[in-house]
Amino acid sequence: MLSEHKLAAQAPFPAPAPLPAPALGEPYLLTPGPLTTSYAVKQAMLRDWGSWDGDFRAMTSEMRQRLLAMLGDTNNEFDCVPMQGSGSFAVEAMLGSFVPRDGKALVLVNGAYGQRIVQTLGYLGRDHVAIDKGDYMPPRGDEVAAALDADPAITHVILVHCETSSGILNPVAEISETVYAKGRKFLVDSMSAFGAIPLEVGDVRYEAMVSSANKCIEGVPGFGFIIARKSELEAAKGRSHSLSLDVHAQWAHMNKTGQWRYTPPTHVVAAFLEALRQHEAEGGVAGRGARYTRNRDVMVAGMRELGFETLLKDRWLSPIIVTFFCPAHPDFAFDRFYELMKEKGFIIYPGKLTVVDSFRVGCIGRMDEHVMRKVVEAAGQSLRQMGVDTAAPPAAAIAERAKLAA
Ligand SMILES: *Cc1c(COP(=O)(O)O)cnc(C)c1O
Repeated sequence: MLSEHKLAAQAPFPAPAPLPAPALGEPYLLTPGPLTTSYAVKQAMLRDWGSWDGDFRAMTSEMRQRLLAMLGDTNNEFDCVPMQGSGSFAVEAMLGSFVPRDGKALVLVNGAYGQRIVQTLGYLGRDHVAIDKGDYMPPRGDEVAAALDADPAITHVILVHCETSSGILNPVAEISETVYAKGRKFLVDSMSAFGAIPLEVGDVRYEAMVSSANKCIEGVPGFGFIIARKSELEAAKGRSHSLSLDVHAQWAHMNKTGQWRYTPPTHVVAAFLEALRQHEAEGGVAGRGARYTRNRDVMVAGMRELGFETLLKDRWLSPIIVTFFCPAHPDFAFDRFYELMKEKGFIIYPGKLTVVDSFRVGCIGRMDEHVMRKVVEAAGQSLRQMGVDTAAPPAAAIAERAKLAA
């Protein structure tokens, strides 16, 4: 099957020495961004930059080049366009700029971020349909092929690479192959995956993808970036519904002047450049992905020993964030568990499932397997403090999971 689904045992990197603590007394953010950043990344923000000045223009240029270098774009067919705002702003910019006004999008939904794409297309007045798989079932190539055969008006298919609401890693290569076999175009929200899970243009075909500063590159929040085929960037001229989110206009202006169109988040860019240097020093996408994979494997193994069970079967577990069922024990209460974990230095994340109670633990950010062992210890101790002797989930949760194919 796809290499992105292989579990960590195969990771080629040996266990590294513990990472230094990000800052004294700060809790670790076991959340999918904002996340824990290194001290050096925070320190990079201790200087003011003029947005028009040559020094800052050089920083923007270096950042774009470093991001493009992660794509294996040997034919120089793609370009990188940073966009102010959180990740959703970049998603909206991508949709408004690459789905033509008379086009029609098929959105593959299996969680909150897919739903947000549908909602955004509604705001933009772009015709669209969705295949909604519910909370966590993966969309598959055959059903996408059938939907495309049934509706020749569909021009674009949109997929969330890692659906952060459950942590499922969607089969991006399988979907891409289907989309192009049917002569349509593919757009990817790789927000929470880019930088840790490969998305090289030679392996997976797409027209554009988006990610943001505060996910797997481990920067602080403040902007996103769109990486798109240059021919699509050209074609996007005059298409956007929005002045500030016009990807073509930002791209053209940046290539001409070296500047962002409107005030850039200068400190965030400085921090992001430092984060990109650390990313490279760690071994790029492979090194970053290997650390996150170890984080996941150590954490999931420890949590399972406590009796916790994951929503997803191993094949679909991403190294980004993992959903666990809440224990069935009557003395377990998530709010109390959250507070007890926080007292021990770990911020966890509530779940987003509609059917059964759950919570999530992120694997991304400046932390390693040594930290993850402490997370498991803290979870065990918190359960004991609550008088919960096993974290086993209710039967309804297991029944729910049984619906998920192997
Ligand atoms: C984080 C994220 C986004 C963007 O969310 P913001 O809160 O706007 O930064 C979009 N898609 C996915 C899959 C994400 O994980």
